[in-house]
Amino acid sequence: MKDMDRRGFITSATMLGVGAAMMPAIAERAHGATARVPLSRPVVISSANGVRASARAMELLRQGADTLDAVIAGVNIVEDDPNDDSVGYGGLPNEDGVVELDASVMHGPTCRGGAVASLRNIKNPSKIAKLVMERSDHVLIVGDGALRFAKAHGFKEEDLLTEQSRRKWLEWKERLSTEDDWLPAHDAAAKDVGAVIARSERLTGTIHCAAVDAKGDISAVTTTSGLAFKIPGRVGDSPILGAGLYVDNAVGAAGSTGRGEANLLSCASVMIVEWMRLGKSPEEACLLAATRVVDHTKMRRLLTDDGRPAFNVRYYAVNKAGQYGSASIYGPGTFAVNTGEQASRLLDGAYLFKTPEKQ
Ligand code: ASP
Repeated sequence: MKDMDRRGFITSATMLGVGAAMMPAIAERAHGATARVPLSRPVVISSANGVRASARAMELLRQGADTLDAVIAGVNIVEDDPNDDSVGYGGLPNEDGVVELDASVMHGPTCRGGAVASLRNIKNPSKIAKLVMERSDHVLIVGDGALRFAKAHGFKEEDLLTEQSRRKWLEWKERLSTEDDWLPAHDAAAKDVGAVIARSERLTGTIHCAAVDAKGDISAVTTTSGLAFKIPGRVGDSPILGAGLYVDNAVGAAGSTGRGEANLLSCASVMIVEWMRLGKSPEEACLLAATRVVDHTKMRRLLTDDGRPAFNVRYYAVNKAGQYGSASIYGPGTFAVNTGEQASRLLDGAYLFKTPEKQ
């Protein structure tokens, strides 16, 4: 266990109470945030890009809004923001330059959920996910069917590609290979034009937001443009109930951001909720989820030279008692919390390994 933070390891191992088979990756966990607020006070948590979203959701909760309406209104701010290129309008497109969005919602009090995947031309997939939940007998609708369903409900198509996203896509395409005919701007004397862009520069991003209200009712939403420059039709974890989010009104909510393929293989959100049901704190459950992804990553192409995942995943969880936490494979990293007393705060999440310094 290279670079092991002995104290962090012991604390984590004891706290998590997991067997040796699940533990080899827990080495460098430095610190994290688990806090408790009284049940009568609502809580909203979000990924770090959800400072405004969590504040808006809290504002609505305080006005008596339903938890799902509140979190959807929160993430709509980010979906509508052209400068967030990982969600909604302005999201980075697929390899053909077309924006395809994924989203899911779960409503704890009624045990319902809905989702859309590979949805084109509609900037608020979270709203369509809720419509799937409320106005169809289905849970997940994808692609052209999802677009037609949205249009049937009066949503208007629009081009979601912003100039900024188009430029980033074109740059990626031009740097994809030295063997094809697409060339980035270059000097006439340049050799090997179009060097392959590093895998780590493939951008991802998502917003997850969950709320518990004063009655202890819980809902959550996850919405994303997914992996930048993906193969058209690729679906990540975000719209898959159990993977990108999960809510059980008796226990809590969990959600994820980061490499969707890894999370799909772990179905971590439902696992986090089940670990919380068994008594783990939100942060402990998120750490277990991150550990499980590390343990399940075996393919050499996905590992760094020291055998760790060459990607990150981050989990967020809140329980019915108002405790919340977050954890990732690599950190430090933050998540947003709003407990209604003040503006949203960014808190440190727990993590397994320190993010390696860039060479
Ligand atoms: N989890 C998302 C996906 O794989 C991307 C992300 O959160 O960065 O589609």
